[in-house]
Amino acid sequence: MTFPRHAWRAALSTAVLAVSTPVALAAAARWQEGRPVLLTVGLGWLAVSVLMPFLSRRGSRPGLVRFTAAGTLWGVGTVLAGAYPAAMIGPLSFPHLAHAVSLTGLAHIAFQQLRHARVAGDDQPLLVEAAVFGTVLATLAWDGFGRAGYTGDGWWQASASLVVLLTSFVAACAAVLAVEHAALRLACLGLGLGAIATQVTAITATTSPRVADVAIVVAVVGGTTLLVFQPRGGFVRHGGAAVAQAARRLRLAVSLPGAAVLIAMAVNVAEPRADALLSAYYGAAVLAAAVRQAATARAIDRTRRTLFFQAQHDQLTGLKNRTALTEALIEPDRTQSLVILEVSGLDDVSDVLGVPVGEDVLRAAAANLREHVTPLGGSTYRVRHDEFALLLPGSPEEAVRHLPHLLGAVSAAPLQVPGAGRFAVEAVAGIARVDRGARAGGDAALPLVHADLALRDARAHPGMLGWSVYSGAVAAQHARRLLVRERLASAVAEGCIDVHFQPIIDFATGRVVKFEALARWDDRELGRVSPVEFVAVAEESNLVVALGEHVLRRAVGTAHAAGVFDAGVRLAVNVSVVQLQSPGFADVVRGILTDHRIPAHLLTLELTESVFLDSDSPAERVVTDLARLGCQIAIDDFGTGYSAFGYLDRLPVHVLKIDRSLTQSLTGEGNGRSVVTAVVDLANRLGLTVVVEGVETDEEAAICRSMRAGLGQGWLYSAAVTADRIVAELEREYPVSPEPVR
Ligand code: C2E
Ligand code: CA
Ligand code: CA
Repeated sequence: MTFPRHAWRAALSTAVLAVSTPVALAAAARWQEGRPVLLTVGLGWLAVSVLMPFLSRRGSRPGLVRFTAAGTLWGVGTVLAGAYPAAMIGPLSFPHLAHAVSLTGLAHIAFQQLRHARVAGDDQPLLVEAAVFGTVLATLAWDGFGRAGYTGDGWWQASASLVVLLTSFVAACAAVLAVEHAALRLACLGLGLGAIATQVTAITATTSPRVADVAIVVAVVGGTTLLVFQPRGGFVRHGGAAVAQAARRLRLAVSLPGAAVLIAMAVNVAEPRADALLSAYYGAAVLAAAVRQAATARAIDRTRRTLFFQAQHDQLTGLKNRTALTEALIEPDRTQSLVILEVSGLDDVSDVLGVPVGEDVLRAAAANLREHVTPLGGSTYRVRHDEFALLLPGSPEEAVRHLPHLLGAVSAAPLQVPGAGRFAVEAVAGIARVDRGARAGGDAALPLVHADLALRDARAHPGMLGWSVYSGAVAAQHARRLLVRERLASAVAEGCIDVHFQPIIDFATGRVVKFEALARWDDRELGRVSPVEFVAVAEESNLVVALGEHVLRRAVGTAHAAGVFDAGVRLAVNVSVVQLQSPGFADVVRGILTDHRIPAHLLTLELTESVFLDSDSPAERVVTDLARLGCQIAIDDFGTGYSAFGYLDRLPVHVLKIDRSLTQSLTGEGNGRSVVTAVVDLANRLGLTVVVEGVETDEEAAICRSMRAGLGQGWLYSAAVTADRIVAELEREYPVSPEPVR
């Protein structure tokens, strides 16, 4: 919503009239030589009125035409008054009639003001200003008119007075009736009363002094009402754009009556009238109203600024917020980089030390970030609970140079808060390019989407740099993820996920003692999709619960049918953390085992270490339940993650699966072998079964045997096989590898 252009013009023209009317009339009254002034002013205004439609690009607007007509009327009247000194037509002096013509124009303009206020519809404050303005103009005009020297009676005196009176009355009534704010009604009523009574005083001062006395009292009461009941809180109570508009209008409205009053006072001083007291009071009242309005306008401005600040800033950290960021992204004036920083580890601080300490850490992180970003010429925002955004000048390639410092700034935050130092807080970042002159609208959000995708990419590769820059590859990954998720959902629903079985061998006997069930998916469109990919996608969308249950059910059913359990051979099934935390998981496992009447100890559930890191996570309870049920619990991929042993004596764990990457290091140069030896030693001592994963060569197998690792799994023995090959695998004996090479 903008203030209509023609309304501005109306206000401007009225302002000129407000000043020029009293000046011209007073000039005519005081000096005979003042007539040239009248002539000049009238001609000037005529010229402006006539030129107005040409100056305006939208000259055909009806409002503009009306203003032009009114202005022309005023100009003609004034020119006539200046051109024909005291031309008498009967008992009437012609110039005075000319003034009446001018006044009609003036009244018309005041009406237009009101009309525009009404057209503007939701602009109630404008209506109020117009009303104030109309009455002030009318009274001033009348004052000047009276001063112009008329003393006798005549029909036109009544007509002119009627015009003035009507103007004031309509203005005041409109203000009283149309104002939405109840608080304003009384003030407006006082204003109207004061204005009308002032005029009645002026009309009757010479003819009926009694009436004039009563009118003076009424005017004083009205004026006082206006002063006392002016709303202190300002005309506009709502924030946002409407307040900004209203503040601007108020400033305009304040400047106009202010100027008019100054002129009226000057005239009064130059030629005091009989009702000087009233005039002085009237001047003071309007001046007070003007001052009051100025104060209101300032208050509104201040409120608006406060509201604007609040709307753009985050209360906790004082940084700018997402709204501000979105605005900054609308039309960037240079190439920038958008960095989204996700902070992890805050919840631990809040859980243990309380939310206020968590907030202190967040504040410290915000301050640190700002300290780094401001000297770079960038800005810092807080966009979500644990996410900051940075706008840095230059391309992502340049921004990346600062990232180690920025990530460091976040990690340093707990050290600055007493007690929080023992918690590690870390950040990952996604970076996207913000191009100069990006289009407003939908595209403005694009860098945010890109940076989010890059952040996701960074999160998906922990242990890497800690950040990722959005690129075509990231976009392609995202598209692929969406496609995989969509296809996987229907594959799971239709039961199209197959299960293969990889044998796990006893190093000592060379016999299969266990199978690991591995999900397999051949999609019509995507071809074979690796479980590494689709399990990750499934975990993002909770789909993994249905997927996991399907695999578990099918694996147990197939293995049972193939006689795996009857042969005393175990089955291992992978379980995702998300699945473990889903309600009723232990019941699902129990149900499946009962359905096939399988002893629970023959089922091993493979979990990753992440399940055990949080000591009071609900997942731990589920693990305990499952162990109580009789299932074996295996730690999968040991050596890749946290390798924390703390949970081993707290929780029921039966099997430790040493990750492929450690197995590969057995034959390498580093200290891989001693690490694995230590782990196997410890596991043996704790009574855990060790499974060495990814055994591919005889050499690796020999080393494993030499360090007394119990079981092995890998391509040296067999890749995962289809269900129909299980029986063959059961009957097969694997050659036990030769004695250690070293
Ligand atoms: P994992 O649990 O560590 O499974 C072992 C992976 O190593 C399997 O890959 C297997 O084919 C592969 N592998 C076996 N022997 C060797 C070897 O000698 N050398 C090499 N380089 N690799 C070997 P796969 O089938 O691609 O599965 C990958 C991962 O997907 C699994 O890792 C597991 O984390 C996940 N996964 C597979 N099936 C399921 C499932 O049903 N549920 C859940 N939650 N995750 C599953
Ligand atoms: Ca596994
Ligand atoms: Ca594994």
